[in-house]
Amino acid sequence: MSNSMFRIIPLPTEIAEAARRAINAGVADHSLLTADSPGSAPCRHCLRWAQPGERVILFPYSAIPSGHPYSETGPIFVHAEKCERYSATDEYPADFRNGRVFRAYDSNYNLIDAQVVNGSEPEPVIERLFQNADTAFVDVRSVTHGCFTFRVQRA
Ligand SMILES: [Zn+2]
Repeated sequence: MSNSMFRIIPLPTEIAEAARRAINAGVADHSLLTADSPGSAPCRHCLRWAQPGERVILFPYSAIPSGHPYSETGPIFVHAEKCERYSATDEYPADFRNGRVFRAYDSNYNLIDAQVVNGSEPEPVIERLFQNADTAFVDVRSVTHGCFTFRVQRA
């Protein structure tokens, strides 16, 4: 049993599978790339950095759905080969403890708070953002590239 007050929400498997089918179908906004350096391509499904030489798919994902002021679609990676969805959902993923910004949204997808975590512990930041009763979820993004990495919800 974990005492964690949050749940990590990796990209759903059906979205990763759809991206893999889209590559095979030659869909124009999906690109097949090979990771060339460590720490360059985070897979949103297994929540690990792709290793150099691993193939990844780059495609647009709407982390915040359309129809809202903060609607946002941006590029994300998943492994091109099948990978196991991140399952330790009560533990913050070890690969993404640095270089992230945490954005808190309310239940209407309005951005209500944000904090950069770089070199400090992410868990207390998540817990502080959830201390606000209006926080419905927290999106974790790259502080440099801005790309969506994963979502955090209350446990
Ligand atoms: Zn993966």
